[in-house]
Amino acid sequence: MRYVSTRGKAPVLNFEGAMLSGLARDGGLYLPETIPTLSGLNDLDGLPYDEVAFRVIRPFTGDSFSDAELRGAIDRAYARIEHAAKAPLRQLAPGHHLLELFHGPTLAFKDFAMQLIAQLFEIALKRSGRRITIVGATSGDTGSAAIEAFKGIDNVDVFIMFPHGRVSEVQRRQMTTPTAENVHALSVTGHFDDCQARLKDLFNDHAFRDAVGLAGVNSINWARIVAQIVYYVTACASLGMRPTDFTVPTGNFGDIFAGSVARAMGLPIRRLIVATNQNDILHRALTTGEYRMGTVEPSISPSMDIQVSSNFERALYLAYGGDAPAVSQLMDELRGGGFAISQGALQALREQYLSGRVSEEETLAMIRTIRAETGEILCPHSAVGVAVARRHIEPGVPMVTLATAHPAKFPDAVEAAIGLRPALPPHMARLFDLPERVTRVENDVEALKSLILDRRTQ
Ligand SMILES: *Cc1c(COP(=O)(O)O)cnc(C)c1O
Repeated sequence: MRYVSTRGKAPVLNFEGAMLSGLARDGGLYLPETIPTLSGLNDLDGLPYDEVAFRVIRPFTGDSFSDAELRGAIDRAYARIEHAAKAPLRQLAPGHHLLELFHGPTLAFKDFAMQLIAQLFEIALKRSGRRITIVGATSGDTGSAAIEAFKGIDNVDVFIMFPHGRVSEVQRRQMTTPTAENVHALSVTGHFDDCQARLKDLFNDHAFRDAVGLAGVNSINWARIVAQIVYYVTACASLGMRPTDFTVPTGNFGDIFAGSVARAMGLPIRRLIVATNQNDILHRALTTGEYRMGTVEPSISPSMDIQVSSNFERALYLAYGGDAPAVSQLMDELRGGGFAISQGALQALREQYLSGRVSEEETLAMIRTIRAETGEILCPHSAVGVAVARRHIEPGVPMVTLATAHPAKFPDAVEAAIGLRPALPPHMARLFDLPERVTRVENDVEALKSLILDRRTQ
């Protein structure tokens, strides 16, 4: 399988190449030339998660990994998800189901992708003898998932930038308490979008990029998207492969884009609904056709506090019919604050996605409502999803809302809603007793470069 950049000026790569580089050299994002169809959809119900994962991921990896390597990686990756179903579907109300994606080691859905790509990186790097430096930007959950997945993996250093003071204490401690020497947590002055912009600066400095073997594992990494397709498939299989709607708490558009790939593979996904908090650039874009940056308003669902949604570029590329020059032009305009989506592309996007926005008050109210109706405690991101889903439920069509994190990861928001702090699962009980290791750094690309050169273990 061949992968091309959304901006059309980077080398065409295979799966391993696209995975190891993350961002394409022209600043674009990699996409497969064609999306494979998944056969045997009706035979999937009741299969173990790992087996479904193998069948879904295999067509994308081409000759980059042998069947045995891929099966081994999937096995090791998902052994650390502490639920037999891995991504269990729980009924919230008649016709409304919660897809629980928070049973992994850092209690958010990002473990599903990150655990797998750490295993795939290890296989690829051992084979080539290469060493690499992973740098990531996080609004909280990506960073903890990356540090947890890559700690102690040979031939890799991991540097994670997070916005100082803007991640929850559990998120921060998950990044700062692992003791492996190859993982480094960096607390950056600024917002998540600043971290993301500095990450792009590092990747666009080709000399630095080559000198340290820079690699990315942010949600733009195609291998992460592929891993996230799997739970859409297991959810559809559990619901009998009938037309199903999905609502996805959305920030960088990675998780919901995986849903659109699942649909392109042949899954009976009817509507894909983007749920945003008050940082609603995606909802505004789909409603008005104008993709305009605002300022980030910190919210109680911080993993969705963004104004630029990087994976949206992939959806734009498809909506513009693969017109890479048009996408490059839009991304140039974005540097000046935003752009207007063409009528044709907007129509194509609206055929793929609906959207909704949820205020802070509505998020808190939804945590209370669901607790009262079901006894379940939602994390604030999942509550944003459930609130939007409830506006769109139609009789006879199952609705699945992705529950993207465990409530114990965001205890302040949960406490504000229902007056109690959810307990961490037993395997994380010691988190608050462990010493932290973190480096404070300015929002400055030169400072970051020298820090990385200085701290690498290789
Ligand atoms: C990352 C994250 C999201 C947003 O997912 P995207 O793929 O960036 O759209 C939502 N909820 C939680 C808990 C997250 O960690």
